[in-house]
Amino acid sequence: MPITNMNEMFNDAKKGRYSVGAFNIFNHLTALAVVRAAESLNAPVIIQTSMGTVKYYGINETMRWLKPLCENSSANIVINLDHCTDESFAYECIDAGWTCIMFDGSHYPLEQNIEITRRIVKYAHNKGAFVEGEVGVIKGIEEEIISDDESLAKFEDIQKFIVETGVDSIAPSVGTAHGIYKGVPEINYKLIDRITSELDCPLVIHGGSGLSLQTYKKFVDSGVSKINISTNIKDAYMGFFVENHSVQNPLELDKELTNRIVNVVKSSILTFSSRKE
Ligand SMILES: [Zn+2]
Repeated sequence: MPITNMNEMFNDAKKGRYSVGAFNIFNHLTALAVVRAAESLNAPVIIQTSMGTVKYYGINETMRWLKPLCENSSANIVINLDHCTDESFAYECIDAGWTCIMFDGSHYPLEQNIEITRRIVKYAHNKGAFVEGEVGVIKGIEEEIISDDESLAKFEDIQKFIVETGVDSIAPSVGTAHGIYKGVPEINYKLIDRITSELDCPLVIHGGSGLSLQTYKKFVDSGVSKINISTNIKDAYMGFFVENHSVQNPLELDKELTNRIVNVVKSSILTFSSRKE
């Protein structure tokens, strides 16, 4: 089906009381696995590409293989550019067919983050695309952004950011982190509840890999719209090569690896309850 509008996807999620899984892919195999998982569960999904992935293949080249894969699927899919830190790169990707851009200006002072994000929102909305913004630095390693800031986003800053930029969804730092958790993260559920109940802007959780089932349930119950999964896919992918280093048949390897990633994605979709009967 045609690439869907993310507003509709989030409205459906709110009505159905589930969170939409957003999965970072880095090649055709991982993208195909996400599409197959979504089709087999009849669930909406978001496919995310990092700037690193897009730069590796090229902007238009990425869309040449990714767009038909999504459009020819029976599943409801949105393609998002994850953690874009470059304003002109965001514009090029919108022009090339990304229907959502996550602009990460969280390393700038709030006023500057607002100013740049507002410009991207204006450009994106003119082209029918959607923008996710970030307030407060989400800990961990995300491409070239390495953050160790301990402070969570403040409610007032999040509110101001949403009102002044006009973003379509918000990813504030609420205590989750990118990469592998070394301990149990301290997640501020009160802040999450306050955002979902008082602010009319879909809430996105980054660093969704490796959390407890109880944590995911709390996210879903709080009305979180989108949960990002990246590390789980990378780990499953790399772990597979360690386990199967002696397999000689490349197609056999690809088939098994695709199935492994399909199962990782399906498991997240079922946990976030976005299966539609
Ligand atoms: Zn992130």
